[in-house]
Order: sequence, then structure tokens, then C-alpha cells
Amino acid sequence: PHIVVVGAGAMGCIFGGKLSQAGNRVTLIDVNPEQIKIMNERGLMLEMDHGTISVPATAALATQVKEVADILILFTKTLHTEAALNSVQHLIGESTIVVSLQNGLGNAEKISRYVPQERIVIGTTLVPADLKGPGHVASHGPSSSQFMDVELKHPRWLDDLVELFNQAELNVSLNDSIMSVIWSKVAFNAALNAICAGTGATPGVLDGDKAFQALAHDVVHEAVIIGQLSGVELDEAKIWGNVQMAIAEHANHKPSMLQDIEAGRKTEIAAINGAIVTAAEKVGSEAPVNRTLTYIVQLKEHLNGQ
Ligand code: NAD
Repeated sequence: PHIVVVGAGAMGCIFGGKLSQAGNRVTLIDVNPEQIKIMNERGLMLEMDHGTISVPATAALATQVKEVADILILFTKTLHTEAALNSVQHLIGESTIVVSLQNGLGNAEKISRYVPQERIVIGTTLVPADLKGPGHVASHGPSSSQFMDVELKHPRWLDDLVELFNQAELNVSLNDSIMSVIWSKVAFNAALNAICAGTGATPGVLDGDKAFQALAHDVVHEAVIIGQLSGVELDEAKIWGNVQMAIAEHANHKPSMLQDIEAGRKTEIAAINGAIVTAAEKVGSEAPVNRTLTYIVQLKEHLNGQ
């Protein structure tokens, strides 16, 4: 199959690189010409637990790619999804499957404006990836991903897709309760990412502070209530446990939203805390804690000139 990865940053390079290493034909698409040039010249460099591998890459701007994708994997930040999909419309054919393992809520809805629901796969990934330079990514520690077709029909091609990813050692499994998985990750990110971005501190710095614990708890609790009101089954104790585990195990890791703030970029706040607020409105409720946190992170973006 022809696999097109849209967004050749940290995640795009790991997934694209591993799929390519497994013998698949992969095209990486990005908007950054310098990044594309370096990836074509030097290939990808993937630092993983068992060592560093170098993988030749084919990278291009969307307009330069002519061959329709059999599988199109979206790995831009969520705020760029629409622009990205717009730019690759010519690569979406009658049987193209579009996969999004991006963070946040609303990915399926955005994609469904370009592809019929029956060919959309959504999920989450716990693959950790840090971009060290163009095409150069470090990914260490345990990693897995879960996904499902949006219609939850489990078509036969979905098993082939899982096999394709697993042959590339991407450790993927199907999950019928994919909305629970997605919402659980959103509730987790809504707490850790947004509070770190809003305060400018890593979890380790905030750990032990009662105000941090109370705020994180309120964010998760509210997200869980809104998720449940939206018809999604959620285990609040498990999500809270994951937050505590991350605080302990990744004390000094800067969550991506904090990295974005520090780099003066826009964050994924709209698809995370902002999306919880929107979901609350849809069910006639409110999410004041997540709304306030959204405003704080947006203010930081505005102060950065975004
Ligand atoms: P990233 O910023 O490293 O990469 C995004 C890439 O998309 C960049 O190279 C950017 O130039 C490119 N891009 C921007 N606009 C584009 C467009 N219109 N068309 C094509 N390319 C475009 O981001 P990332 O860390 O790889 O994250 C991607 C997604 O995966 C996010 O939703 C993130 O939350 C999620 N995620 C990341 C991690 C991680 O550890 N990095 C883990 C789990 C989930």
C-alpha cells in the first residue's frame, strides 16, 4: 500500500519511519520545506530503546505528491488538521482509509468533512516522541496505540491495518470502547498539559502542592462528568491514577503544551480543555474549571503574539 503521513514531526517520523523500515512505501508530507529537504537528504534518525536506526525517507509538500494514498495517517497538531486535510484532498481516493491518533476530541468530525465515516479510524497513542531536529526523533519507554473504525463496525480491512502497524512494531490493538479511551486521555491531558502550560512548570515542580493536586483533580472530575453526560463510560479513579503515575514518572518532562508555550507556538488547548467546554454545552451543562484553564492558556498564547 501507499502510506501517506501528513505532518512529519515527532509522531509522523516515528510512525512513518517504522512503517517504512518494515518495507512499506511511505510518503511524508509537511509544510516546512527546510524540514522536507533535510529528511530527503539524510533520511530519518529514530532513537529508540534498542538503539538508533536510520531510515531513508521520501518527504514532500502536499502539492508535490500525485499518487493517491491507500492509508493516510494524520499527525499534525490538532489545530492544523483542517488545513492539512484541505491540502491533501487530491490524495484521498475512493478507498483511502484515514487514521488519526492525534490527541483531543473532534478529530473524527473534522475528517468526516473529507472522507466518509466508514473509512475513518480514530484512536490514541502512548508512543512518546520528542523531536530533536528535522527527521530526528527520540522515543523511549513503553509504547502502545489503540484504535477503531469510527462506526464501530470492525470491517475486515481493520484487521489488516492492525497487522500492518504491528509488523512495523507499532504495538497497536483494537478497542470497541474507543471513545472511552479517547476521553480518558483527554481528561488526563486536560489536567497535566494545561496546568503545566498555564503555570510554566513541570509536574515535578508542582508535585506536592495542594493547589496543584486540587486543580488537577477538579479538571479530571469535571471532564469525567461531561464525558459521562455525553454517553461515554469513564473510570475516574483510573484516570486519576494515571495522572499521579505520570507526575511521579515524568516529573521533569515538559508536556507538549508547555513546550508549545515556551516556543511561542499555538497549543492544542482548543481540542483538549476547550473541547470539554464545547461538549458540556452540547449536553446543556457547563465546564467552568476547564473553561477557565482554557482562557489562561489562550492568554499565554496571546501574550506570545499568537
Ligand atoms: P509536531 O509538532 O512534532 O509535528 C507536527 C508536524 O505537522 C510538524 O512537522 C508541522 O510542520 C506539520 N504541519 C503543520 N501544519 C501542517 C499542514 N497543514 N500540513 C502538513 N503538515 C503540517 O507534533 P507531534 O508531537 O508529532 O504531535 C502530533 C499529534 O500527536 C498531536 O495531536 C499530539 O498531541 C499527538 N501526540 C504526540 C505525542 C508525542 O509524544 N509527541 C504523544 C501522543 C500523541
